Amino acid sequence: MAKEYDLVILGGGTGGYVAAIRAAQLGLKTAVVEKGKLGGTCLHAGCIPSKALLRSAEVYAQTKESEKFGVLANDVKLDFAKVQERKQKIVEQLHKGVQHLMKKGKIDVYEGTGRILGPSIFSPMPGTISVEMNNGDENEMLVPKNVIIATGSRPRTLPGLDIDGELVITSDEALRLEKLPASIIIVGGGVIGIEWASMLNDFGVEVTVLEYADRILPTEDHDVSKELEKVLKQRGINIVTSAKVLPETLEKGNGVTIKAEHKGERKAFTAEKMLVSVGRQANIEGIGLENTDIVIEKGFIKTNEFYQTKESHIYAIGDVIGGLQLAHVASHEGIVAVEHIAGQNPSSIDYTMISKCVYSRPEVASVGLTEEEAKEKGYKVKVGKFPFKAIGKALVFGEAEGFVKIVADEATNDLLGVHMVGPHVTDMISEAGLARVLDATPWEVAHTIHPHPTLSEAMAEAALAVDGKAIHF
Ligand code: FAD
Repeated sequence: MAKEYDLVILGGGTGGYVAAIRAAQLGLKTAVVEKGKLGGTCLHAGCIPSKALLRSAEVYAQTKESEKFGVLANDVKLDFAKVQERKQKIVEQLHKGVQHLMKKGKIDVYEGTGRILGPSIFSPMPGTISVEMNNGDENEMLVPKNVIIATGSRPRTLPGLDIDGELVITSDEALRLEKLPASIIIVGGGVIGIEWASMLNDFGVEVTVLEYADRILPTEDHDVSKELEKVLKQRGINIVTSAKVLPETLEKGNGVTIKAEHKGERKAFTAEKMLVSVGRQANIEGIGLENTDIVIEKGFIKTNEFYQTKESHIYAIGDVIGGLQLAHVASHEGIVAVEHIAGQNPSSIDYTMISKCVYSRPEVASVGLTEEEAKEKGYKVKVGKFPFKAIGKALVFGEAEGFVKIVADEATNDLLGVHMVGPHVTDMISEAGLARVLDATPWEVAHTIHPHPTLSEAMAEAALAVDGKAIHF
């Protein structure tokens, strides 16, 4: 028997389940189809488990250095099984929370693989969804007025570089490691690669990062990349930029050896394992797109600013549409799509207002244009930069690397971008995000009196520094 819904969401990851909750709030009869676990990549193979491991790594590394705080902790040991257990507990707790939210919103959850059918006896428009149930029950047939595709993404690899799950792995397998390797090569110095590099280094693993671009985190502000690279190198991570990995040279035995072209030479790198983190590709296969007029562009589903595909009743959000592949982006896109379906006239998202974070040690966070991007766009910029080494709280923490950098428009005083590298900056960036949303000037940021001693004083000082008026540096 076909079941009718106002909205069926394909994929219950961060984008999908948040969209479902918003839809339920707006009174839409809603179902989510999820083939794995509610919470998707972010909860089970991304944000949460990786941050849980990062936290354990940080505690381990800092306990080893605790003598500088006058705390003598002899014979510090790592119990990696416990580290994994703790991570899993957090994931399971949050997973239960999402399941509860679905019940609370009276959202039907179908555990199975969904596929869009073409025009059918149930509906003249493509959109009927057939669900192959995980428990082997007969397929369910769902007839929605609207569909949101939120099927997410999976790790990509380099052409010719096969992931075997043992010696050559992605973040999916890395999160499930039962034992830490002695050494690792990380191919790709983007967000995921750098988080793993920082974490594994803190766990005591010998880490080499091979990055094709001339700097790590190539989409961040140039100064931020350079500062982070300096600190990570000081901590013992071998970072090789402008390195073109040659997949055909991969040799496997007890470990892996691979060559990379670097400054006109071929260099060999050897380690116990290799982690490939070169981006993520959209899950667009097997979901019945061939039964629709939906357009795929560069491997991602194409939508308008309200996330409608070429089939106006089928929307797509999150990693499957590309752009900024972040959990908070996926969920916000889901909310906009649902509000559009419900006729609420939502505003479209301004992606230059979205904060991006890297949870390495030190952390990186940014919002808006980098200095280079602002100049490329023709702005005459003025820059204010303030180092954490002049912030009392950073010294108290014993983490005084990095800075806050503000890029402003000389003509209008608009705050074009804010870039941070340093302690706990991922918890500081929302002030900059709010400043951009409210169109605040550096003067207004500086004259919001920041409490002392806090790390946030670096934001106020950087705002003063835009006009050369920083107090403490
Ligand atoms: P997903 O979360 O991937 O969810 C898609 C869901 O769809 C999955 O559950 C899948 O099982 C399901 N599905 C797919 N096909 C079907 C089908 N045919 N039928 C039914 N169900 C289907 N982002 C951040 O913002 N902060 C971070 O700190 C962060 N850390 C990350 C760390 C790592 C290691 C990784 C890999 C990613 C990280 N991300 C982070 C990115 C974040 O996880 C994604 O941007 C986010 O999960 C995207 O949400 P989504 O809903 O689009 O897709």
